[in-house]
Amino acid sequence: KANRKFHPEDTIIRLNNGTQIGGGTFVYMAGPCSVESEEQIVSIAKKIKESGATILRGGAFKPRTSPYSFQGYGPKAIDYLVSAKKETGLALVSEIMEINQLKYFDDIDILQVGARNMQNFDLLKELGKTDKPILLKRGLSATYEELLMAAEYIMSNGNTKVILCERGIRTFETATRNTLDVTAVPFLHEKTHLPVIIDPSHAAGIARYVRDLSLSAVAVGADGLMIEVHENPAKAFSDGAQCIIPDEFDMLLKATKQIHELR
Ligand code: PEP
Ligand code: MN
Repeated sequence: KANRKFHPEDTIIRLNNGTQIGGGTFVYMAGPCSVESEEQIVSIAKKIKESGATILRGGAFKPRTSPYSFQGYGPKAIDYLVSAKKETGLALVSEIMEINQLKYFDDIDILQVGARNMQNFDLLKELGKTDKPILLKRGLSATYEELLMAAEYIMSNGNTKVILCERGIRTFETATRNTLDVTAVPFLHEKTHLPVIIDPSHAAGIARYVRDLSLSAVAVGADGLMIEVHENPAKAFSDGAQCIIPDEFDMLLKATKQIHELR
C-alpha cells in the first residue's frame, strides 16, 4: 500500500487546522522533548506559532533509556498540550507507546511512533485501525525496507495516513548522537508516496548542528521538519543538549523557507 508503483500520487495529509503534509508543501513541527508544565508548553507554543510552525510537539509518554530518567507526565501532559492547542490553534503531535494509551489521545492530531517502537508490530496493527495520522520514526538500526514494512503494518489495517520520519541512525560514529541519513529522503520518495520528514534534533543530539542539518533536509526534498525547541535547554527535563531556543528556531525557519522556495 505504501508502494509508489501502485499509487503514483503523493499522499497528502490534511489536519483540522489547515496544515497540509506532503504534496510539495513544507511543514514545521516544533516544541520541547517533554511537556514539563502547562505554562511551559503554552509559552513555547505561542513562540513557535509566531515563527510560522503549525504543529506543536511535546512528549507525554517518554521512552527513556534509563528507567530512572523522567518518564513524562502522561495524561496530565496531554491536557497541557490541549490547552496550548486551544490558545494557539496549533495542531498537536505526541508519542504513543502502547495502545492502552489511545484513550488519552482524542485531541492529539498526529500519533507519533518512536524509533524504539518502529517494529512493535502489535502497536502498529492497532494504530492501523484508527483514523489518526501516524508519524512513524525510523528505528535506530532500521533499513529503509524495514521502515516501509512497518508503515505497511499500519496501512494494511486500514489507516493510510502515515508520515515517515528520518531521525538519524546508529553508525560507527560516536561524535554525534546518531547519524542523519539524508539519502533516506530521495530514496523513500522514489519508493513510496508517503510524506517524509526529518528530525535533525535526535539525529545530531547537539543543538548547534540542528540548523545546518535542517538546511540539508530542505535541500534533499523533505516534506517538513520536526525540531526540539526549549526556552531554557540547560534546564530541560529531557534532550536539553539538542534543543534550540525559540530565537534560533525563528532563524532556522526563515533560512529553510528560502531554500524551499528555490527548489
Ligand atoms: C522524541 O521525539 O522525543 C523521541 C523520543 O524520538 P525518537 O523516537 O526518534 O528517539
Ligand atoms: Mn527528544
